[in-house]
Amino acid sequence: MNRTTVLVELIVVLTLMRSLLVAGRVVPPSCARCGVQLERRALGEPVCRCGF
Ligand SMILES: [Zn+2]
Repeated sequence: MNRTTVLVELIVVLTLMRSLLVAGRVVPPSCARCGVQLERRALGEPVCRCGF
């Protein structure tokens, strides 16, 4: 196992953990394009606009 393999595995694990957090409503779902969250949690919060 070389360093690149470890790095790729780390990215995969982080991605999985993030989707689990989103599923658990810990982190609000964010746009894959601009990175801004899709759902407004508080009034006046910035949300994704590229979906419109
Ligand atoms: Zn967006």
